[in-house]
Amino acid sequence: MSNRPTVAVVGSGFSGLLTALHLVADPEGPTVRLVERSAAFGRGAAYTTANAGHLLNVRVANMSAYPDDPEHFTRWLAGHEGWSAHGGFVTRGVYGDYLQDLLKAAVVRSAAGRLLLEGDEVVDISRAGPAWKVRLGVGREIEAAAVVLALGVLRPAPPAVAGPDLLASPRYVADPWDPKAVLDDEIDEVLLLGAGLTMVDAAVTLWRPGRRFWALSRRGLVPRTHAPVGPRPEIEAPRGSPVEILRALRVASSDGCWREAIDELRPHVRTIWQGWSGAERAAFLRHLRPWWDVHRHRLAPSVARRVAMLMRGRELVVRAGKVTSLNLDRDGVEVLWRQRGAKLTRRLWVGAVVNCAGLLGDLNQASEPLLRQLLLRGLIRPDPSRLGVDVDPGSRLIGVGGGAQVGLYAVGPLTRGAFWEITSVPDIRSQAAEVAQAIMRGLKLGSAAA
Ligand SMILES: Cc1cc2nc3c(=O)[nH]c(=O)nc-3n(C[C@H](O)[C@H](O)[C@H](O)COP(=O)(O)OP(=O)(O)OC[C@H]3O[C@@H](n4cnc5c(N)ncnc54)[C@H](O)[C@@H]3O)c2cc1C
Repeated sequence: MSNRPTVAVVGSGFSGLLTALHLVADPEGPTVRLVERSAAFGRGAAYTTANAGHLLNVRVANMSAYPDDPEHFTRWLAGHEGWSAHGGFVTRGVYGDYLQDLLKAAVVRSAAGRLLLEGDEVVDISRAGPAWKVRLGVGREIEAAAVVLALGVLRPAPPAVAGPDLLASPRYVADPWDPKAVLDDEIDEVLLLGAGLTMVDAAVTLWRPGRRFWALSRRGLVPRTHAPVGPRPEIEAPRGSPVEILRALRVASSDGCWREAIDELRPHVRTIWQGWSGAERAAFLRHLRPWWDVHRHRLAPSVARRVAMLMRGRELVVRAGKVTSLNLDRDGVEVLWRQRGAKLTRRLWVGAVVNCAGLLGDLNQASEPLLRQLLLRGLIRPDPSRLGVDVDPGSRLIGVGGGAQVGLYAVGPLTRGAFWEITSVPDIRSQAAEVAQAIMRGLKLGSAAA
């Protein structure tokens, strides 16, 4: 096929990479141009790290890149050396190696020019008749029959209580996943805004002897730990309002097997979320989400032991409360905060503030130039729960007019508004395969043409 259509995939983290791999796996599939603005193709924000303390938070047995081949990753591990298992978990760097291998193999295997790697940033996308025009940072344009946005998570918004002087100073770390994020060695006290997985990551990365971390979040809840898996309880008809689901989970966990109960619920999460009204989703996000997050997204046991040790030694102090002001001073940052349920304002002096607030949801606050541009063009709009972009059940982007855009898709955490649990490999791998299939159908290619 010499006149194959082109599909542009923007972003080569797990979501973009897997969508691209599915598209080129079919001999009659399109040409794929995978565009990535960072140096490393195929690793994304999660799997670029070389830190030996950064372990996967999902067991290797559940990290296959392919939903229909659950042992793909464990087979890859068996064929490779230089990694060690920490109770069923490996480092995120090893997982990045796996993804890089998949990418290399696909480039070698795909017929000349079927998978093209474009090291650039996509700055704009616009309609060009029935196709799409994808503009790159250097000014070049790609014409594509379909485009997939796989931009990853939206970075958290800067804290509203911080002045521009702090935000511009080296005492503020906006992106804790930035491998270049380092703190001055002299800094002993660090404020981590947030207490979830990102906070744990930052504490592991930035730890040095004598340094103390203050982690502050609304409820002060820290992620729970993975444990050996027991038999899964049955959850009766996992449908109903957030309160009904919570009740069903409690009943199923009554003998202590809450992890298994959550795992049992997980395949139903999408249907449950989609069955809720806007008000029910809002109620879940407001009241239950902090608990859901810490029980659902768990730490590898060795990471949890490290966190417990830091907390015992008061090298990590976690508090429930609200920061009311952050003031940059010549010698550091003055933090004013109120403990949850208390009226009194407390003061803390730190040398640096790290934003570990988790994923930003509200698209209107996103600083990503491409998203701002697409908003301006009306090609995307925020989803009703303000978790990312609005997409239809087939992951097609919905524009300001309310219609799904033909040939314009999003994959990964940006689509949380439609699917809720779509931030981890076990969920994204299925979505990537589905979107690739949908594109093939839309372009009438391969077996999907029939
Ligand atoms: C620190 C961390 C640890 C995690 N650990 C796990 C885990 O153990 N297990 C698990 O299942 N999940 C984990 N996750 C969840 C993770 O989000 C998913 O597993 C998956 O990696 C998400 O991939 P993505 O491609 O959607 O996003 P990303 O990995 O963020 O990739 C997006 C890519 O798009 C590129 N990009 C963005 N905008 C543009 C543009 N305009 N032009 C060109 N390129 C662009 C970025 O440079 C980036 O490489 C973790 C996430 C994080 C952040």
